Amino acid sequence: MPLRFYNTLTQQVESFSPATDGVVRMYTCGPTVYDYAHIGNFRTFTFVDLLRKWLRASGFRLDHVMNVTDVDDKIIRNAVAQHKTLAEYTGIYTEAFLEDCATLRLERPEHLVPATAHIDDMASAIERLGETGHTYQSDGSIYFRISTFPGYGKLSHNDFSGNLSGARVDVDEYDKADVRDFALWKAPKEGEPSWETPLGAGRPGWHIECSVMAIKYLGDTLDIHAGGVDLVFPHHENEIAQSESLTGKPFARFWLHAEFLMVEGQKMSKSLGNYFTLRDVVARGCQPEAIRYLLASVPYRKQLNFTFDGLKSAATAIDRLRNSSSAWKPAASPRARASG
Ligand SMILES: [Zn+2]
Repeated sequence: MPLRFYNTLTQQVESFSPATDGVVRMYTCGPTVYDYAHIGNFRTFTFVDLLRKWLRASGFRLDHVMNVTDVDDKIIRNAVAQHKTLAEYTGIYTEAFLEDCATLRLERPEHLVPATAHIDDMASAIERLGETGHTYQSDGSIYFRISTFPGYGKLSHNDFSGNLSGARVDVDEYDKADVRDFALWKAPKEGEPSWETPLGAGRPGWHIECSVMAIKYLGDTLDIHAGGVDLVFPHHENEIAQSESLTGKPFARFWLHAEFLMVEGQKMSKSLGNYFTLRDVVARGCQPEAIRYLLASVPYRKQLNFTFDGLKSAATAIDRLRNSSSAWKPAASPRARASG
């Protein structure tokens, strides 16, 4: 029975095997380290952990890259407010993320790569996009011109042929020629960290880091790209536009997306008071293994309703599994028969 996945790109369930060598080249979008990760994030990361184990159990080897977004608007705002350097600020939450992963027994990918260690790679990719006519400048920032990539919308299956005027599809605060265009490189602002590169001073946009680090470590075409369903548009759509404009090849063969986590039937949000980090839930006395069990208990393409009653049931289910597995253990190992 071959392994089969629902592919967001084709909207079909398809048989999976890696393109070459029995090695699965996989990229999954990692955390933005501006705060402790919440249980919705960990639903996706638990899905990725199960995916890793299932791929290995299917006989494949793994070459898996996960990024750590350690520069973005929120990180810079918080670091400046707390009088910390970017590295000091993101170091705290990167460490916390790794501790949280250990709490949930999530495996470490083969490559866990911070964005700020790849600024030069990103600058040279943006230069190459410029040479092939995919970018333009505005007020010192550089944008990707979506109209140069006819396949835009093929992952999210959005039809962008209509009039998008007034639509808000990205969170950048800069002037753009088309509302869909997104920043590859952001001009430096007073008092904010920036990097000197051949593009001039500035810092990378969010989308470019994933394209650049995926291609650098895994090659032009990935076997699997995965992440949360909230990333399909615009993030993954933008990754495809950048990557395929750079290489002229398909960026990923399979796109897998984990659905949202709800809390007590509602969308998790700070204003509703139902926003929980993993640490919040553990601090309430919940067992990490019960949290992991609950996060893994619903197929990843279905919404998961996280409830504290559900956590109690998960803990009971684990106890039951423990009891029955100890009942299966033989009382003692059979003694080797004496020879002769
Ligand atoms: Zn990404």
